[in-house]
Amino acid sequence: MHFKADRAACDTLDVGKDYNKNNTGVIMNSNNLGRIVRKDNERLFYNIFKTYGMADIKESNYIDTIHLYNEPVPHIKFAPFEKSSFVSQCFSTRLGGVSSGMFKSMNLTFNKVGSYEADLRDNVMENFRRMGKVINTPVEDMVYSKQTHTNNVLYVDDSNRGMGIVKDRNYDNIDGLVTGTKELTLVTSFADCIPVVMADEKSRCIASVHAGWRGTVGNIVKNAINMMTDKFGSNSCDIIAFIGPGICVDCYEVSQDTINEFRKNYSQSECELIIQPENKPGKYLLNLPGADYINLINAGVRPENIYLSDVCTSENSDILFSHRASSGRRGIMCNFIKIIN
Ligand SMILES: [Zn+2]
Repeated sequence: MHFKADRAACDTLDVGKDYNKNNTGVIMNSNNLGRIVRKDNERLFYNIFKTYGMADIKESNYIDTIHLYNEPVPHIKFAPFEKSSFVSQCFSTRLGGVSSGMFKSMNLTFNKVGSYEADLRDNVMENFRRMGKVINTPVEDMVYSKQTHTNNVLYVDDSNRGMGIVKDRNYDNIDGLVTGTKELTLVTSFADCIPVVMADEKSRCIASVHAGWRGTVGNIVKNAINMMTDKFGSNSCDIIAFIGPGICVDCYEVSQDTINEFRKNYSQSECELIIQPENKPGKYLLNLPGADYINLINAGVRPENIYLSDVCTSENSDILFSHRASSGRRGIMCNFIKIIN
């Protein structure tokens, strides 16, 4: 066991600076954009790590795993993909766009949000252009999922370029995308739900999935890995997986109905790792990223190849869109990933 005891509950960093472990404390940058609060993943995942191959887990897989940058617009890089010569990846924040009102400002959905009217199309398009510049991708080379909380994954290639952004989609109810096509950017969207982004350099394919509680309980992660295997001969032990910024267990209260679905699909010992009863009757805290972690392990991904975000969307709602923290008045963030070489 090599977890350090008495780690501070969270670290902070200012937006725009590459995170530096010595540089802790509340530091506002000159733009006053705010700061990111980091979670203590040693605490949140201790029992999960202990159960699933903790001997192989390095601290760098779950601490300081996301890095923020200001230019050309604020964005997040996931550590394992940051220095990759195989993929280019970024995740948007709510900053740096042109949208206003509840969509302020980097909103990346053309759709209505709940019962609210959709954002202006021109504004969303400009936001996509700005995010595209971060990884040097024109909007014509993006392909956007059509998320409806399913566990459906779609294989996409050159024929899908631009779909969901500059042209109509020829698919619906797709919460995960897989490709092996170079310079085709997979776009998936989030505002508390869990992003799971995967890359296998050996078989040359990538996947990006949206895992809310329905996608998680339906094991969309496994469906994506199966597609990587079927289409590209991928071996799960070669896959690098990143569980991105989403709602953490401390913030994710769910009711009995949701828990019942998890009890049907996860073993009793797995449920003990991801479900915490609350002091209120019929209410529980659910570790959604933890459930996706277990899905990855059960699909054969190696613990040392799984990285965890240490950032909760709900606790950083000044910088990130959070459905819960905003009571549904929010825009959407996207993950962008493409094969570059
Ligand atoms: Zn939280």
